[in-house]
Amino acid sequence: MSQQQDEPQQHEPQQHEVIIIGAGVCGIYILHRMLELGVDATVLEAGGGLGGTWYWNRYPGARFDSESYSYGYSFNQEILDEWNWSEHFAAQPETLSYLNYVADKLDVRRHMQFNCRVNAAAFDEDSDTWTVALADGRHLRCNLLLTAIGMLSAATLPNIEGVEDFQGQAFHTYYWPQDPVDLADKKVAVIGTGATGVQVIGEIADKVGELVVYQRRPNWCAPLHNAAIDADTMAQIKDSYDDIFAKCAETPGGFLHGPDRRSFAEVPEAERLAFWEELYASPGFGIWLGNFRDVLIDFEVNAEFSAFIADKIRQRVDDPAVADKLIPKDHGFGSRRVPMETRYYEAYNRPNVTLVDLNDTPIERITSEGVKTSDQQRAFDIIVYATGFDAITGAFDRIDITGVGGEKLADKWRDGPITYLGVAVAGFPNLLTLAGPQGASVSSNFPPNIEYAVNWATTLIAQLRARGCQRIETTEAAEAMWIEEIKSGYEGSLLATAKSWFTGYNSNVEGHDKMRYLMYLLGSPKYRQRLDTVAEQGYEGFTIQ
Ligand code: NAP
Repeated sequence: MSQQQDEPQQHEPQQHEVIIIGAGVCGIYILHRMLELGVDATVLEAGGGLGGTWYWNRYPGARFDSESYSYGYSFNQEILDEWNWSEHFAAQPETLSYLNYVADKLDVRRHMQFNCRVNAAAFDEDSDTWTVALADGRHLRCNLLLTAIGMLSAATLPNIEGVEDFQGQAFHTYYWPQDPVDLADKKVAVIGTGATGVQVIGEIADKVGELVVYQRRPNWCAPLHNAAIDADTMAQIKDSYDDIFAKCAETPGGFLHGPDRRSFAEVPEAERLAFWEELYASPGFGIWLGNFRDVLIDFEVNAEFSAFIADKIRQRVDDPAVADKLIPKDHGFGSRRVPMETRYYEAYNRPNVTLVDLNDTPIERITSEGVKTSDQQRAFDIIVYATGFDAITGAFDRIDITGVGGEKLADKWRDGPITYLGVAVAGFPNLLTLAGPQGASVSSNFPPNIEYAVNWATTLIAQLRARGCQRIETTEAAEAMWIEEIKSGYEGSLLATAKSWFTGYNSNVEGHDKMRYLMYLLGSPKYRQRLDTVAEQGYEGFTIQ
């Protein structure tokens, strides 16, 4: 044996200037910006390909709820000129194709490593570096760690006994198989009626043999009114991109829909009803975000609008008892995220579709054959868990992140996230939590705001490099100020009154049964202003060495 072979092998971690976790909408763009700067960056992605949420969510009916052209990136004219959307609200396969096209156009794919699940990341105070541990046993080191891990990427199965006992096919919608699932003539159960369940149910009701929907709490849904985009319309959209992105930049949610300036009371009844009819007949989120300005603030106004929508549900569902079960009683319209639907309510008029109200007959357990409620056992071929996510902080909690002095991020965030600007955490230097909790991207149309946050971070990183800085961190004082600002956004908002992932509730995650401040609710224009002011003031709230 050679001397070389006798010596112990050195397994020095591979070193990068920047490691980005996640190859979704955010990861693709931050990687592009880093490469433009000449940074040695790599992306670690758990999936077998890029696309993040659009890589994983392959369930039938998965599609945009925001207009396709308002969801695409705005930063590259060639991409805007070349890409044609086929529908106003594109389906998942098209969005995934778009993201792959963008990655190839920007030539970033070769800096991405797939099937790389990050298990842990630990900060080393001597070298001011992060060491990232992968599930495949490898370790990588970097100066700067950027998380782009998604806000709805930690899927949660229901905490119902027996989930693992079922002998048929079963999957969470997030992990819908890549190979086609044969639904024809199958007996299918769907558990969950959030935005995902509503899309699945509307799509598969006429494709399965039998469909049983298990509903715990109904949501207020509204018609999506999707339509194809022909060549002339796409040409007009391309000509209007400046206006489209300008509109998204000025609305609180970063969507094409912003609140109507009028209040409910100042509009005569006939005119008001005509306006609501128009909203109900219009595509997209206008009905939620383009309504009178007090619909999401004033309980009484909200109750009026909820009654209007309840009538729509009664008109569309043949059986009044079923319609009544589909009308929410515990929250008003829009105080939870409004699922946009296509043929959802009509699905319940079909003879092969049954709605089970879990308030009347709770699920006792999943059995080897199907679902047992308090009144009966039903057998299924397929169980679909549309049971949501450990939203926004879940993806962080699933990585063992250790900061200064051995502090765990999961411990620090046990009662809810604590950040500065949603991008930095005291005690966790050289970590930028892009698309993380308490930023604006998680409470808005994701891409426009993530582009802004990434541009902001890129300028910061360029300055750190130019000044030869090794370490950037925020302070607890800056965090304390930020949490007050975050809390002020919840005051007077009906969004803060309902139990949903918006407010941090998830009955399937221990300890997530109380309000957690996950979002910046003061609107994306204000958030952008805040980022700009911090930068103008020399990155106030950060210590840079
Ligand atoms: P979700 O809104 O959290 O809904 C989860 C559903 O599962 C709820 O109906 C919930 O009932 C039910 N559930 C959870 N645990 C249960 C249990 N143990 N027993 C019975 N029912 C249970 O999750 P989601 O539908 O996946 O949507 C999450 C978010 O993803 C959306 O709000 C949206 O932002 C995003 N999304 C976006 C699009 C799009 O842009 N096109 C499409 C789909 C989803 P309760 O309400 O009683 O808790």
